[in-house]
Amino acid sequence: MADWRATLREKGYRLTPQRELILGAVDRLGHATPDEVLAEVRTASSAINISTVYRTLEVLEELGLIRHVHLSDRAPTYHAVKGTTHFHLRCRNCHQVISVDEEEAAAFVSSLRERHGFEPDVGHLTVFGVHTDCPEPVDQTDEEGHHHEH
Ligand SMILES: [Zn+2]
Ligand SMILES: [Zn+2]
Ligand SMILES: [Zn+2]
Repeated sequence: MADWRATLREKGYRLTPQRELILGAVDRLGHATPDEVLAEVRTASSAINISTVYRTLEVLEELGLIRHVHLSDRAPTYHAVKGTTHFHLRCRNCHQVISVDEEEAAAFVSSLRERHGFEPDVGHLTVFGVHTDCPEPVDQTDEEGHHHEH
């Protein structure tokens, strides 16, 4: 994360303290929804509200410092962009998120390229399913009734 500023300077941007605070929160949390980011930054600054968080997350994504993925059908989840690209596995039973290096999708990606002439955005990919040996007992009831998973 130390090269944030250098990257931004090259692009002609600078990180305001507020943006830096929000970027730091995303980085610490690993995968965070706007609400989770707000809860995290509130410990440092009570001046930040949810619309500031949404706006700042959009700016940080435009700057290429974070990106979003869809881990539920509610607000997108953000993660910091560093190192190699990863995609996500989301367990529907225990809701755990597993990050998998894009390397592991190589065969799938080359098949999509060759057979469909399609270049997938692997970093935006989430595979929903269940752990074959999930630590949580299987719960068939839906906590919110109308909620659906992808
Ligand atoms: Zn999206
Ligand atoms: Zn991620
Ligand atoms: Zn699980």
